[in-house]
Amino acid sequence: MLLSRTPVLALMASAGLALLSACGASETPAQQPAPAEEPEVQAEAAGEEHAEDAQAHESEAKADDHDHDHDHGSSGAGAAHVHGAAELALSWEGSKLTGELISPLANFGLSEAEGVISDAVLAELPGLVMITGGNCTAEPPVAKVDKSTGHTDAHIKLSWTCANPPGVSSLTFSGFPAFSSFERVNAIYLTDTVQKAGELSPSSPSLSLK
Ligand SMILES: [Zn+2]
Repeated sequence: MLLSRTPVLALMASAGLALLSACGASETPAQQPAPAEEPEVQAEAAGEEHAEDAQAHESEAKADDHDHDHDHGSSGAGAAHVHGAAELALSWEGSKLTGELISPLANFGLSEAEGVISDAVLAELPGLVMITGGNCTAEPPVAKVDKSTGHTDAHIKLSWTCANPPGVSSLTFSGFPAFSSFERVNAIYLTDTVQKAGELSPSSPSLSLK
């Protein structure tokens, strides 16, 4: 049983788990009753495994071009930087509907190390969030890169001028098909009288604003 778990454990880049898997592997051949030698074999195996793991981990981190532990909460204000997730907030300034989408750059398939929003992605931004009802006209989104949290996020300012603000009925995050790394968008809509919040997903990309 331990033997069958070994490949999974070996894949996990953790010294503790690597040690476990090494021990499990060397214990399994029960037909070799050589208890005196076993501790030595275990120690060697564990050492080797650890070194290999450290190497694998290093190249993995490079390929990913930023460290992996940024998914565990955030320091300071704002939402956690979690790949696949994004935050969208909308509110009114007079007859203008304004919003901001904050998303890890990785969700757009972009390198967080380079921290540049490509022209191809910029071209997709005008259709990223759609407003239904209210006879609204979108203004060009304004995107910038924020590295101040130690992660790389895109901050995209959105705005619409609406001829009939009370007619606004829903928002839709339309970016899921174009950017498959987006898994969910936490959307919030706040007015003086209405508060709406919802998790948008590829199968449910809209939030009612009524
Ligand atoms: Zn990241």
